[in-house]
Amino acid sequence: MLEQLGATKEFDICIIGGGATGLGIAVDAASRGCKTILLEKYDFAKGTSSRSTKLVHGGVRYLQQGNIKLVMEALKERGLLKKNAPHLVKNQSFVIPNYKWWENPFYGVGLKVYDWMAGSLGLGPSQLLNKEETLALAPNLDQDGLRGGVLYHDGQFDDARLAIHLAMTAVDHGAVVINYMNVEGLMKENEKVCGVIAKDSFENKEFEIKAKVVINATGIFSDSIAKLDDKNAEPLISHSQGIHLVFDKEFLLSDTAIMIPRTDDGRVLFAVPWHNKIIVGTTDTPVSSASEEPVARKDEIDFVMQHIHRYLKKDPSYNDIRSVFAGLRPLVKSNSKITSAISRDHHIAVSDSELISITGGKWTTYRKMAEDVMEIAIHKAGMSEKECVTKHLHIHGYKENNDYTAPLYYYGTDETGIKTAITKDNLLSELIHPSLPYIKAEIIWAVQNEMCMTVEDALSRRTRALLLDAKAAIESASLVANMMAKEMGKNENWIKEQIDSFISVAKNYLPTSNPKLQTSN
Ligand SMILES: Cc1cc2nc3c(=O)[nH]c(=O)nc-3n(C[C@H](O)[C@H](O)[C@H](O)COP(=O)(O)OP(=O)(O)OC[C@H]3O[C@@H](n4cnc5c(N)ncnc54)[C@H](O)[C@@H]3O)c2cc1C
Repeated sequence: MLEQLGATKEFDICIIGGGATGLGIAVDAASRGCKTILLEKYDFAKGTSSRSTKLVHGGVRYLQQGNIKLVMEALKERGLLKKNAPHLVKNQSFVIPNYKWWENPFYGVGLKVYDWMAGSLGLGPSQLLNKEETLALAPNLDQDGLRGGVLYHDGQFDDARLAIHLAMTAVDHGAVVINYMNVEGLMKENEKVCGVIAKDSFENKEFEIKAKVVINATGIFSDSIAKLDDKNAEPLISHSQGIHLVFDKEFLLSDTAIMIPRTDDGRVLFAVPWHNKIIVGTTDTPVSSASEEPVARKDEIDFVMQHIHRYLKKDPSYNDIRSVFAGLRPLVKSNSKITSAISRDHHIAVSDSELISITGGKWTTYRKMAEDVMEIAIHKAGMSEKECVTKHLHIHGYKENNDYTAPLYYYGTDETGIKTAITKDNLLSELIHPSLPYIKAEIIWAVQNEMCMTVEDALSRRTRALLLDAKAAIESASLVANMMAKEMGKNENWIKEQIDSFISVAKNYLPTSNPKLQTSN
């Protein structure tokens, strides 16, 4: 990638930020035939894009809020993504348990509208359930006062894995994508942005990269890039933190997820099976500043625990939390003080010097966001009309007829490469830790093929070890650092630095910031 960067005089499109938004734009731009470069300060999906609820959804909540346009668009994108990345997006059934007489007809009608809006891209019809049918699908629900439920369908995915496969799709179409490359300045000619100044975090080497158009897709950091352009730029973004708790699968025995339609602060809460664990969340807490490693607050953990206790037969204790992860939503700024009422719609701004910034949106709508911003970018670049082709573009690893319970399914066609490595060295089939579903071959594959540069990349985003079980991930760090060092030709110092740096990040995923947990641990 660095060689290609050196050999290119000028790119058509330069994208700052390697989350869902930036990677989607890179795929769109490269597949239209534009000379494309994407620069990511840390690792792909290090920001918000690895910290979502993992749903590809229209957003039942936005339907409740009456945001029909957003739901229609997201439902269409849900269907397209399921078709283009069937190895990563699966049909997930949800039950809304009902304890009040009016809830079944109310949610039943709402979800029929949801089905109707999805049209031919629907994932299956919603259905009213009586008490027995509800318990058959979700046996862990508290039976006391349960009247029935509503079954509906949405999509589920692995966010960081999709991000890596989007990066690979962009590369498959000729893009240059580089992680650990921080954009520190913008280049200008006649007061128009004509490129970026970026620094390679490992070599400390500076690059001046020329491009016809520069797109700011830095999510929660968008305002800091906008300020590089114009130090008086008005803030575009407000931040809202959402956290998730991860538990063992025993607390949700079936494969059906639970959707709690109304929390005390008027949100929805999900308990969703994921990689043989369950994820429960989320919250919506306004925060004043952006951070690449946000940390869950005690009151947020308590909030999720209190709500999930109301609905489950067997209550998980604080000791049962395997991992806690927090993410910040890049919400388009509005005057509302309640962040859950701010629209998830995306917003595109073009500055006087023609820096294009795209903010807001959701993982589910990344493709449409990319299409919208590229229409503007192509015009600004003065390039001839190039059709968007991503509606029917296969994502890297595309494979039909997937068994979502099989190990390695999430690699799609790349699974063959990993299996071939195992046939050459059977030791690579060993688990990296007895409590984690990942094998050694995945670490080697990530280093050789997926631009995995650090132990955190390997344990947080190439595998999802840190999110599934933070303690086990910490215990795997030494093995993974040693394997990576051998593969990358690194020394003992590197190994030590990597382990220390991973542990300092991973500690935030152990729920020890909660005093109740500290005593019970
Ligand atoms: C708790 C939570 C749950 C969510 N659940 C869902 C869900 O279930 N489904 C759904 O569809 N959406 C969900 N979302 C929304 C979705 O995750 C986000 O909309 C999406 O990930 C935002 O992606 P992004 O690329 O805009 O931002 P990011 O992923 O944050 O990417 C921005 C990138 O820019 C990089 N960057 C910053 N500064 C620089 C620089 N100077 N140089 C180079 N790179 C830089 C950052 O390192 C970062 O990687 C959720 C969000 C949250 C917070």
